[in-house]
Amino acid sequence: MYALRALSQSLDRRIMSAVFIKREMLVYILKNATAVHPREMILLLRGKTSKNQTTITDLIVPPLATHGRGFSGFQPHMLPMDFSLIGTVHSHPSGIAEPSLVDLHHSFGRIIMIVAFPYNNEENVAVYNHSGERLTLETT
Ligand SMILES: [Zn+2]
Repeated sequence: MYALRALSQSLDRRIMSAVFIKREMLVYILKNATAVHPREMILLLRGKTSKNQTTITDLIVPPLATHGRGFSGFQPHMLPMDFSLIGTVHSHPSGIAEPSLVDLHHSFGRIIMIVAFPYNNEENVAVYNHSGERLTLETT
């Protein structure tokens, strides 16, 4: 069981080493985060995964999203079964672009993208896999 888990994690690492996002989409995310600051925002990411890369194709507003100081969430059971959902993006008004323990324990999907205050550009964005390992983000 532990060996299997380790194997699947190392597979994930290989498969998920780079994440691609269109620049306009990233700008939209950063604007959205700025608009709700100092509250957190959360959006779902839809995309495709292939050998060594994940490509984000769409952003989806989650059903019943809650925005608050220090938390943001949604109701996963309200989601349609959609295997193209690959993860979430949420904001950190604190300015720290690292996943919290809560983020890791309640991660939805395979990638966790975090945009941190002041939401200026790629320097305020980080992407992790569900194990908390940082992935490369490429804008296209
Ligand atoms: Zn967080």
